Formats: sequence, structure tokens, C-alpha cells
Amino acid sequence: MLRVLSRIAEVRATVAEWRRAGESLGFVPTMGALHVGHISLVLASRRENRRTIASIFVNPLQFDRKSDLDTYPRTFDADCAMLAEAGVDAVFAPQAFEMYPDGYATRIDQKGLPDHLCGATRPGHFSGVMTVVTKLFNIVAADRAYFGKKDYQQVMIVRRMARDLDMALEVRPMPIVRETDGLAMSSRNRLLLTEHRTAAPGLYRSLKAAESAFRRGEVDSDRLRATVRGEIERIPDARIDYVDIVDPEILAPRRGPIVRGDVLAIAVFFGAVRLIDNIEFGAESPS
Ligand code: AMP
Repeated sequence: MLRVLSRIAEVRATVAEWRRAGESLGFVPTMGALHVGHISLVLASRRENRRTIASIFVNPLQFDRKSDLDTYPRTFDADCAMLAEAGVDAVFAPQAFEMYPDGYATRIDQKGLPDHLCGATRPGHFSGVMTVVTKLFNIVAADRAYFGKKDYQQVMIVRRMARDLDMALEVRPMPIVRETDGLAMSSRNRLLLTEHRTAAPGLYRSLKAAESAFRRGEVDSDRLRATVRGEIERIPDARIDYVDIVDPEILAPRRGPIVRGDVLAIAVFFGAVRLIDNIEFGAESPS
């Protein structure tokens, strides 16, 4: 049975009950509008923990554009049905005032990793993410937390934060789940106009084109970036925010030759909808 909890005190009481019974706990934080990508995190958590708790909270602190916050899809009843079906024990779905009451004043910050990729074009975004994730980690007090590599930079920043601040849980990065046409699953996909949804799988094809070039021996980062840019520029209505190849440890742009494991990451607008995707060189199955 899925327990639906909106208050911090309820979460603490529920978790305390499980802990008294000696049960391990996995945590899956989300912003709702759930899809199979989110459920893959739930299933990973269920494999590794006796109990699984998810959260649904559209965190205002991490939105750099108000219109993005206002239009973010909200499908709470369907989300709860999916979580119940997937065997989640409890979902924490607080209102904003529960997380940020009057007088709330604290933010988390980090040097380095947030300077690159999405952090360069979305000021304050990762500080907002780290702040809410810290609060959620403190509230839920899980053994393991599950994040998708779709948001590659996010999971690396959160893992760094957990290590730096001695948080007593393991951050587990999980593979990207894609639609059959290759488009990375995302809550924002449902905001795409029909013609943009048709065009969007071209993003993954552009990443695969670079991966194929790498397999054929191309290691020059400029040429690989140019390949991807060229592919995306041919997609109707696609507007590039960034195309970058980064060192997976520090997320700084790779100059000169790339190495296996480097991450090719893109952010592209279709109209007002911004999509992100990435691949790790050498890790993809050949197409
Ligand atoms: P969100 O609700 O978009 O904040 O995402 C919640 C979690 O689900 C994050 O850890 C995301 O990285 C992860 N996630 C979102 N889409 C996917 C996907 N297509 N594959 C794997 N994980 C995903």
C-alpha cells in the first residue's frame, strides 16, 4: 500500500517505524509527471532496499525561468498510481510552505562542477537543486538515493555534495531510459508540439553520430562537437543551448583528444521547451 505523506513529521514517523523493524531504505526524489525513467529508479531502489520512498516536489528554488515553473506538468493522481503499481511504500509530496516556510534563509553552494554545462546557462539552478536535495535527504534519512544519468551534471553534483558534507547515504547514478525512437524520457517531452516531438529523436541520433565517429577512431573534441552541432542544426526548429564534451570527473570541457568515458552533453530548445541528453563515449551499444 502506497502511503501518501505531505508533512515532514509524517515522513519521519514512517521512516522511524521502518528503522525500528531494522529495514533498509531507498529514496527516489522526483518532480512528478512520472514516466518509465522514474520507475526504473524505483525498481533499482526496490532491488537494493527493503523499503522505498519517493518524493514529488516541483522545487521553485531550482527554476531559473518562471514560465518553466508555471508550465511544468503536474499529474499527481497518475503519479501515485504509477508509484503504487511499482511497489513504492510511501510518497512524500509536500506543499512549498512545508519546505520553505516564512523566514527560510539557507542555500547550499558548490565550487567547480556547477560552473559548466547547464550551470553556465541556468544561474542558481544547481544551488536550488542542492538545497532541496539536502533538505529531502535530512527528512527521509535513507541508505541510498537514486538519480538518473539523464541529468548527468545533477547526479555528479549531488554525489560530490553528499561526500563533501559527510551525508550518511550512497548516491546511486542510474542509466538513461529512452523511448523506442531514442528520445530520452523526460517530463518535459509532454510539453512538445507534435512536430517537435517528431523531430526530437534527432537529438539522440546526433549523439550516436559522434559515438560512431569515435568508434571509427575520431578523438578530436572540436571535430566531434562540430559533428553534433551539424546534425542538430539540420533538425527543424531545434535551437542549441550548448553542445559540449566534458571530463566526467570535473565536467570541464575536454580540449584536444577525448578519452573513453568522456561525456557528450547537449541542451536544445524546441520552442520554449528545453531538452537535455548525453552519452558516455565508448559505453553505447553500436546502432
Ligand atoms: P525529475 O522529476 O525530472 O526531476 O527527475 C527525477 C529523477 O529521475 C532524476 O534523478 C532524473 O535524472 C531521473 N530521470 C528523469 N528522466 C530519466 C530518464 N529518461 N532515465 C533515467 N532517469 C531519469
